[in-house]
Amino acid sequence: MFHQIGDPWKGGFGPASEYCMPLDDFLDAADRIARKVPILSWNEIGENSQWLSKPDDNLDGVLLTFDDGYREHYQLASGIMLHQGWPGIFFICTGFVTGDAVSIEHAVAQLLHDGKWNHTFNTQILSEAAQSDFDQLNHRNQFKRIMSAYHSASESARSSFYTEIAGQMGHQSPNYVSPVQVKALTDSDLHTVGLHTHSHPYLPTLAEQSTHADLDAALDKLLQLTGRKPALFAYPYGGSSEATEQWLQENQFQAAFVTERYGYTPKNPLYQIPRFDACSHSFKQWVSQL
Ligand SMILES: [Zn+2]
Repeated sequence: MFHQIGDPWKGGFGPASEYCMPLDDFLDAADRIARKVPILSWNEIGENSQWLSKPDDNLDGVLLTFDDGYREHYQLASGIMLHQGWPGIFFICTGFVTGDAVSIEHAVAQLLHDGKWNHTFNTQILSEAAQSDFDQLNHRNQFKRIMSAYHSASESARSSFYTEIAGQMGHQSPNYVSPVQVKALTDSDLHTVGLHTHSHPYLPTLAEQSTHADLDAALDKLLQLTGRKPALFAYPYGGSSEATEQWLQENQFQAAFVTERYGYTPKNPLYQIPRFDACSHSFKQWVSQL
C-alpha cells in the first residue's frame, strides 16, 4: 500500500512527508517484487475465485495498492506501471477529486485582483524586507514581487505555497487526481479503481448515519466519474467499522483493505484484507528478504 509517490527532481511532494516514497524507491521495490512474485490485478483474482481461499500459505501474488488518489499516482506511477505490466489498485477519495490545477500565476493575479490577498500569504513566500513595503505597491508590482520570490523559492516552499494559494481559489486539493484522470485509470485494462470514502473520515468512531451518508456520496460520485461500480474498498487510516462492513455488503463490494504488518492469508476475512504500508520498516524488510 502506497501513499504519495514523489519525484524530488520533477516537483511533487519530495521526501517531506513520512508517507511519501520517491519515485525511484517505488520503482526499485516494485521491480524487486515483480522478479520474485507475480504482481496481480484484481481481475485475475476475480477470474480465479479459489485464489483467495487457497489453503497453503505460499506467497502466490502481490497486489500494489495506492491510497487517497494523489495526482502523482496517475502522473508518475500509473503509466510506468502499464509499461512494465504491473497492475495497480487505486483507492480514490471522491471528495478530493478536483478539476485541473489552476496555474500559480492565475491564482496569484486573481487573488490580488479580488482583494483577497492577505498577510499570511506574504509571510509564506516573501522575505521580511520584501514584505515591508508590499502594501504600497500597485497590483502589477505586487504580482511581480510575488512571482519572482516564488520562482527563487525551494521546491517544498513552492509546493506548499501553491497548495495554499490554489486552495484559496476553491481548488481545495490540487494535489489529487482530476475527473479525467480517474476515468483514465478506470478505463485502463490493467489497473483497478476502488473506493476510499468521500471525506476520508476515521470510520470506527463515526456514527452509522454519517458513515452511510459519506459512503453513499462517495459511491454516487465514483459512479458518476467512472460509469462503473467499484468492487474494492480501503478504510481510511486502516480503521474499519461494523456500519461500514454492512454497507459494503449491501452494495456488493468484493473486498476491503486494512493496514497491518503482514500479508493476506485465507484466514483473513475478505472485508479485512491486510496490507503492508510501503513506507513502513516491515515492508522494507519484507522486500529486502525477497
Ligand atoms: Zn487514506
